[in-house]
Amino acid sequence: MEIKKLIDNSTSERLRELIDNSKKISITCHMTPDGDAMGSSLGLAHTLSALGKNVYVITPDTPPHSLDVLPGIETIVIASRYPEKTRNLLKTSDLIFCLDFNALHRIDRLQSSLEESNGFKVLIDHHPYPECFADMIISRPEMSSTCELLYHVLDETGLSKKINKQAAECIYAGMLTDTGNFSYNSNNPDIYLIIAELLNKGLNKDEIYEKVWNTNSENRLRICGFALYEKMELYADLHLSLIVLTKEDLQRFNYVKGDTEGLVNRPLSIPGIYWSVFIRQDEPDYIKISMRSKGEFAVNKICEELYGGGGHLNAAGGEFRGSLEEALRLFKDYISKETIFIKQH
Ligand code: 5GP
Ligand code: MN
Repeated sequence: MEIKKLIDNSTSERLRELIDNSKKISITCHMTPDGDAMGSSLGLAHTLSALGKNVYVITPDTPPHSLDVLPGIETIVIASRYPEKTRNLLKTSDLIFCLDFNALHRIDRLQSSLEESNGFKVLIDHHPYPECFADMIISRPEMSSTCELLYHVLDETGLSKKINKQAAECIYAGMLTDTGNFSYNSNNPDIYLIIAELLNKGLNKDEIYEKVWNTNSENRLRICGFALYEKMELYADLHLSLIVLTKEDLQRFNYVKGDTEGLVNRPLSIPGIYWSVFIRQDEPDYIKISMRSKGEFAVNKICEELYGGGGHLNAAGGEFRGSLEEALRLFKDYISKETIFIKQH
């Protein structure tokens, strides 16, 4: 079996030309970077470095510690810590990759620096409805992760031979995390052909699974246990689960960013629950919302309507600036007024 071709020839040829002709390349991804954002950024950086390119990975803010194991993460430039440096890097880059985001507001404080830069911008992403801010848009919402899409892009620009062990580990980490260890959006046979190629590059997939997916701090396990035991409310008629964690809850368990990663997926394992909502009060007046669903029920639409957010059909999020009570009221009003139809499984 061969990996299917995804990119048209003129795009891949143009992209290869741009890479070959550029002197300084920057790679950016969305704020609060996850495994896919960080994995694709570092995977691309390792590959381009192996080609002899001068490459910088720039993130809007600090990645969670769970990603510390990704090779090269110590080299990234974090915009919230070094605003001037990142502005300069973007200004002087002739090629800028935008990975794993579809709208400029997703890169937060990097937005103005990116807009100011004259560098050629290439978007590689799998979120639906991309904004047209880039000069070249490679958007494939049918891909399970940006890392999967990135592999195709590298392969079809003739760069897959430059993927080394470090790049393979980063790319695999993103594919693993965005599919919940290949438990959803993961029926495309190409995914496994790509993994076979990455294994041939020296990837130890069991090690990445262990480090990225199966390593938890005591606090993380306890806060997730507490959330499921004490805070999960089930609305059987709506096939809905709701978990709300207040600032006090977070403080009680010495919460650090990333501790509740994946929690929102857990209630979907209950038969009859097809919609899971997690509302977290990060600050007294800053609320983060995560939603997951099964089947055709589109949570990206709900996140957009209620909280100006977005994402994928079955995995989306948003943020709310205001009190927890107001954020909850918006949600409770929605479920009491809207006729919510969730297809039975
Ligand atoms: P998570 O629930 O893991 O934070 O995010 C799930 C998905 O929803 C992500 O892939 C991301 O694309 C999207 N998402 C999360 N938060 C936001 C947000 O505040 N705004 C938008 N537009 N998308 C979000
Ligand atoms: Mn992603």
